[in-house]
Amino acid sequence: MSVMADIVDQQTRSRMMSRIRGSNTKPEILLRRALHAEGFRFRINVRRLPGTPDIILPRWNAAILVHGCFWHRHPGCPKATTPASNRSFWQEKFTANVKRDRRALLQLDELGWRTLTIWECAIGRHVPAPLVQEVAVFLRGNGTELRGHDDPIRQGEIALSSNDPASFVVVECHLAENSGMSF
Ligand SMILES: [Zn+2]
Repeated sequence: MSVMADIVDQQTRSRMMSRIRGSNTKPEILLRRALHAEGFRFRINVRRLPGTPDIILPRWNAAILVHGCFWHRHPGCPKATTPASNRSFWQEKFTANVKRDRRALLQLDELGWRTLTIWECAIGRHVPAPLVQEVAVFLRGNGTELRGHDDPIRQGEIALSSNDPASFVVVECHLAENSGMSF
């Protein structure tokens, strides 16, 4: 392949990539639309809060983090692979990401926010109705029905599984101790 053809190819590729990134198929955008259709109102990408939550719902005292399975290391997820080369580099990066996420959840908890982590694989190309319902139950309820873990980071966890491992739905709910606090 000539150098010119390769450059054109790179430009085409990057244009295609930016189109993909700029499209409305990203999981958090799909989730926002679904929540909006359910009547929820929210703010997005709130930088002043730990971890810059993707979605916050002040009325419900809740923050939602939509996590990519690869970068945020969804436990047991087939998408949480580790590249074969430079393993130590990747592992270091992944460990730092997981630590940062955990710290953000603890800080949000301390600030009185209930948090919900939703893995991207639970959303896919469209938001499954059962997932929207679980999120709605979490948001509208006080969350006590979801308690079950001693770890404050994983006090509640909902796992809706189907027989297809690629389409399983996992939602983790984290409940602030001081859930009466408004923001
Ligand atoms: Zn996953």
